[in-house]
Amino acid sequence: MSYYEFLIKIPDAFRDKLIQRLTDAGCLGVIEQDEAITAYFPETVDISAITDDLSLLNTLLEKSGQVRGLFFSRALIPEQDWNESWKKGFLPIDVGERFTILPPWEKMHDGRINLVIDPGMAFGTGHHETTRSCLVLMEKYADAGAKERFLDLGTGTGLLAIAASKLGFRSVIAVDTDPLSIEATHKNVELNQVTNVDIREGSVVKAPGMFDCIAANIISGVLVQLASALASYLKPGGIAVLSGILRGQENEVIEAITQVGLRLLEQYQDGKWVSLVIGR
Ligand code: SAH
Repeated sequence: MSYYEFLIKIPDAFRDKLIQRLTDAGCLGVIEQDEAITAYFPETVDISAITDDLSLLNTLLEKSGQVRGLFFSRALIPEQDWNESWKKGFLPIDVGERFTILPPWEKMHDGRINLVIDPGMAFGTGHHETTRSCLVLMEKYADAGAKERFLDLGTGTGLLAIAASKLGFRSVIAVDTDPLSIEATHKNVELNQVTNVDIREGSVVKAPGMFDCIAANIISGVLVQLASALASYLKPGGIAVLSGILRGQENEVIEAITQVGLRLLEQYQDGKWVSLVIGR
């Protein structure tokens, strides 16, 4: 079997939507780079439907005044090259002091907290700045309070939930509104042999009770909406790590969380992304 490889440049704000759309169209997986994404499709896919869709998106972006629009190129590549290309996109990476994120075909790294993630469809392979920022901050603050209950709000691949479990949280709940994420999380939890991650499809309402630590790597608009839920879900002394905030949008999130009585403890920046540590 051969595969179609699409190299797509798109403004950041539209990246997640595009990945969702490609996945719905039968995309096998996506490698995210700084400026572009590479997306793979089986050769059996209706290729003209996909190129038409991308061209249409480009027109829409240009019409909406986006300076950069969307650019794409495609190539048909034989299976062995696809495997190589795919695997090269997911080399193990060290994050923070202790974590190594690696795909299932790599050997575990001795002396590290290994997070094994199958780079399937869901977001959160560890190759994104926001995911890495969450891990750095979770590691830094994990021991600041009790390690009883952890909530991963918008779990994607389950990566942060698995990290929390391996950092020693006693019970972890991972929720996501996307059924594909739930599927990926089940797979990754099993790969990591962690037994205390409870996976639920949906949003905050699926995770009742209060938490010592919450991680939410979602876009700022959603974080603003979730502010009051965060206030009621955090135990006194609890910590929330919020990420997915583009630089310049952090103030709206800070305003929303201070309005509900939470405190900003730290602002952390990686590239154009901002993460916030919030305390109650
Ligand atoms: N936690 C992972 C994934 C972040 S991507 C990481 O840090 O890498 C954000 C995820 O949040 C997506 O999987 C998306 O489906 C989910 N999501 C978006 N809005 C949500 C909401 N209101 N409640 C729960 N999950 C949500």
